[in-house]
Amino acid sequence: MGITESRNIVSLHWPSLTADRRQRDLDSLASGETIDVLVIGGGITGAGVALDAASRGLSTVLVEQSDLASGTSSYSSGLVHGGLRYLASRQINVAVESATERGILMERTAPHLVRSLPMLMPDLADIPAKRRRLARLGFQAGDLLRASVRTNKSLLPAPRRISGAEAKLLFPTVRADSGLLSFDGQLEDDCRLVIAVARTAAAYGAKILPRVTARWIAGDGAQVRDELTGLETRINARSVVNATGVWAGKLEPGVRLRARRGSHIIVPTSTLRDPRAALVVPVDGTFHELVSVLPQSDGTTYIGTTDVLVDDIGARVQPTADDVDFLLATANKALEVALTRDDVVGQFAGLRPVTIDDEGVEVDLSRKHQISIGDTGALTIVGGKLTTYRKMAEEAVDKAVEIAGIWAADCQTRALPLVGAASRDRLAEIKAPQRLIDRYGVEAEQLVALAADNKDLAAPVVAGSPVTRAELVFGVQNELAMTPEDLVDRRTRLGLVDGQRAEALEVATSLLAHAV
Ligand code: FAD
Repeated sequence: MGITESRNIVSLHWPSLTADRRQRDLDSLASGETIDVLVIGGGITGAGVALDAASRGLSTVLVEQSDLASGTSSYSSGLVHGGLRYLASRQINVAVESATERGILMERTAPHLVRSLPMLMPDLADIPAKRRRLARLGFQAGDLLRASVRTNKSLLPAPRRISGAEAKLLFPTVRADSGLLSFDGQLEDDCRLVIAVARTAAAYGAKILPRVTARWIAGDGAQVRDELTGLETRINARSVVNATGVWAGKLEPGVRLRARRGSHIIVPTSTLRDPRAALVVPVDGTFHELVSVLPQSDGTTYIGTTDVLVDDIGARVQPTADDVDFLLATANKALEVALTRDDVVGQFAGLRPVTIDDEGVEVDLSRKHQISIGDTGALTIVGGKLTTYRKMAEEAVDKAVEIAGIWAADCQTRALPLVGAASRDRLAEIKAPQRLIDRYGVEAEQLVALAADNKDLAAPVVAGSPVTRAELVFGVQNELAMTPEDLVDRRTRLGLVDGQRAEALEVATSLLAHAV
């Protein structure tokens, strides 16, 4: 791993994660060596734990039963929250943690992946004036929180009231005479955060092994199966971290989870006349439940989410017809255009874990994560948010090394740039389309070079989408994409739009055959 100095930021020449490297790493475990930390689960939590452990100098292996980010981490709203809603419920510590981690992501570890998102809350008729004043006070408190954790105001300007005319400039189809404008963080893509964290962990020596399932776990290792060959191996480890999200109870029976379904629908941004801000719509005028309309950089807009208790935590969830109608109806309250089911070009859903406490009360683990040591002897970490993955990982590794009695360096990740990260000044100098810089950071130059070497790779994967074939090739050569679905559903998000998924899979299948 080479290191070059650029302005104030140290950038690394990141190693490529490939199927060959995965096989070599898997083979190397056959010797039966005992590693320091075995992480189960390749969502944001597991990837974060692997990075924290590896960057403290611990020998680390991560196993993921499918592709990286194939669980809940690819079905979020993609917001990097500043903790405003936790302030409202007086969970001050949770709010401070969120605001601190937002600042770390935006300013230090992933400035390329997280942008400032203007968010407009229109003054709708069903919101009483008293509640509007309360909302304004809440946003002002959120701004004080930003200042107290020292996130630069130029990134996240103070909230303010705006006129109907200004609201229309930001969101041409909003139905409002006035509104509140505030700012929060928005991820370019939740999957790209997971991939960046996992590749950074690999740069510090972690072995990242997708398509390896943990069959059972113990405090000193796990029995795992290579899903490509069916072969089983035991991995010996001084500590084991179960980071399998809502499925954590399958490996650690004492962890009893239920789940709430959060659904999103996708509409073309052009149907809303290309807004430059997100729209926040209170469901019933009380701010307890909100639906957000979130424009993305690829010409689509996500509208979500629902919050519905599900009976069964299965492998994949899908939005129901009721979810779709609820999201359309809530968004339409604030829009001059009436969106219908015909405008919906895609949809997705994820599960938020909840648990039941000793008094039988439901506890929402998506607000605050939970770390526990179960009967197996492994450590389980569940809940939390993409926003706070770094702090969650720090706490999990602190606990894991304490229990295992291993020496480890202090946590390093507060100032550790992820793959592709650079200062905003350096990012502004990169000669590549802005969309590529937002997704790949300094590595955008490699995508431009790929397309310059082979003009076919400069072409879009499907007509009407900005995603190029070079992005698919890069996914195979550097980001451990092993199937067409990995490329279409997670290295890019082409698969989220129903009408383009089949064609994109066809192109990906052909490129995959040539790129390996
Ligand atoms: P997952 O991403 O589910 O990862 C667990 C992984 O474990 C999976 O990949 C799974 O395949 C793997 N696995 C399971 N069993 C095994 C096994 N036996 N062996 C190997 N691997 C296994 N957070 C934010 O910060 N901002 C948001 O805007 C936001 N929006 C959200 C919207 C919705 C609808 C939802 C549901 C959540 C949202 N979140 C948001 C929260 C965030 O998405 C989750 O907290 C986070 O993605 C959970 O990550 P995880 O790694 O714990 O779980």
